[in-house]
Amino acid sequence: ADAAMYEAKKQGRNTYVMYSETFDQQIIEQDSLKEDLKFALQRNELSLHYQPQIELENNKVIGVEALLRWHHPRLGLIPPVKFIPIAEESGLIISIGEWVFSEACKQHKRWQELSLPPLRIAINVSAIQFRHHDLYSSFKKIIEDTEIDPQYIELELTESAIMANHQQAVETLNKLRALGIKLAIDDFGTGHSSLSYLSRFPIDRIKIDQSFVRNIQNIPSNEAIVRAIIAIGHGLGLELIAEGIETVEELECIRHHQSQEVQGFLFSKPVPATEFMVWYQQVLGSKLTIPA
Ligand code: C2E
Ligand code: MG
Ligand code: MG
Repeated sequence: ADAAMYEAKKQGRNTYVMYSETFDQQIIEQDSLKEDLKFALQRNELSLHYQPQIELENNKVIGVEALLRWHHPRLGLIPPVKFIPIAEESGLIISIGEWVFSEACKQHKRWQELSLPPLRIAINVSAIQFRHHDLYSSFKKIIEDTEIDPQYIELELTESAIMANHQQAVETLNKLRALGIKLAIDDFGTGHSSLSYLSRFPIDRIKIDQSFVRNIQNIPSNEAIVRAIIAIGHGLGLELIAEGIETVEELECIRHHQSQEVQGFLFSKPVPATEFMVWYQQVLGSKLTIPA
């Protein structure tokens, strides 16, 4: 009964679900993943991959998003959508998120030491991590220890992460911003929240969710939504980035609607730091050419 209730909650509540034996299997798998995840950090099984963010005006790489990967010794690479919910549910997200932030700052520093043009580094922060009372002091300490210039850090938060507890969220965001950190709303348009928060929260950038970008040139409703999001962003003086650009057609449509920045497989998939550096140095040498 408990398993069926959890499945019903997962499906968005206000529904019913009949118990099935596959739930037991799923629970066993989840429990075993949760057990393994406890040791993932100390066993060095986590790593970050990096995906470039491109400014459209001059086809310049201006940032990277750090994306977490788990190399499970038995199951291979496990995508974040599979293990982040487990990390959130078990509270492990606090230590994992801290490691992500620290590792991304250290990586930024290593790239700086190569005397390359500095990149903004975007770091995902989960809702539970964001609400944790220690987030600000832990990030502040990591910034001091790694000596990263905070103006290059951008935190990616979802609408639901900041909506849950208004007052506390505004305070935390203001404190982070006072350090010089930038703030972006990830997956914008998918969070069922009111638009009024956009003017109340100290936000720098909107990330247009990839579901609206997908095949935008052929889906009028997607185009209408993206056009509206970009108009809101411009009207409020926010920066915009469209994520999940896979094709030249999508890129051209996004360019036409004047999003300043883009990110997606068309330019590069998220790759390990060394691989990203090779790509970046090639791009710097030859200027980024967008495939036609
Ligand atoms: P997100 O932050 O919205 O990241 C974008 C996701 O879209 C990434 O998936 C990226 O690989 C994928 N993507 C980028 N360009 C394209 C494209 O052109 N086409 C398609 N189909 N996909 C594209 P990934 O790496 O599997 O991450 C999934 C989600 O997991 C992230 O969504 C984020 O919510 C979460 N996540 C990843 N790393 C972290 C982390 O360090 N901390 C937290 N809290 N969450 C993370
Ligand atoms: Mg993100
Ligand atoms: Mg996103």
